[in-house]
Amino acid sequence: MPEPSNGPGEGPAPPAAAAVASAGTAGTGSPLPQLRIGNGYDIHRLVPGRALILGGQRLDHPEGLGLDGHSDADVLVHALMDALLGALSLGDIGRYFPPDDPRWKGADSLALLERVVELVQQRGWTLVNVDAVVVAERPKLRPHIEAMRAAIAARLGIEAERVGVKATTNEGLGPTGREEGIACHAVALLQRP
Ligand SMILES: [Zn+2]
Repeated sequence: MPEPSNGPGEGPAPPAAAAVASAGTAGTGSPLPQLRIGNGYDIHRLVPGRALILGGQRLDHPEGLGLDGHSDADVLVHALMDALLGALSLGDIGRYFPPDDPRWKGADSLALLERVVELVQQRGWTLVNVDAVVVAERPKLRPHIEAMRAAIAARLGIEAERVGVKATTNEGLGPTGREEGIACHAVALLQRP
């Protein structure tokens, strides 16, 4: 059996060789940062008599519905918090802000987000970016997306350009499609030098 060859004219080096060549550096001589990714999901019920707060913005639902919960029920910010905690395997927000604790009744979720960012920073990690998708039939979120990104970015301590917020409907399907609730999926990427 001939030895595998990576000589000139025989195409690029196989991935294993390329990985060895760049291991530990980004090709600049400086060490690669450690990276961690986290995933978060949340859903809250839509009910009468509650405010609808998403990404720190108060929105108007056409039927006057809002999100039910112990805090302000900002499902977008909750999913982001779980993504941040998940990246460091720190559990979920229920562990830090239990729903039976009167301190968090009606809490501003953006303030809770700041506390989660502190937990991340205390462990020597910095935030690279976050991305979220809110699943809601109504109201139209597009007019509010930029304000949500700015509010979240301010609490995360990063530029709004690193905060993705998208909105989708569920095409009338399932609990979000029937407007029984609003859900959100989020990811967060952290790095440590
Ligand atoms: Zn929640």
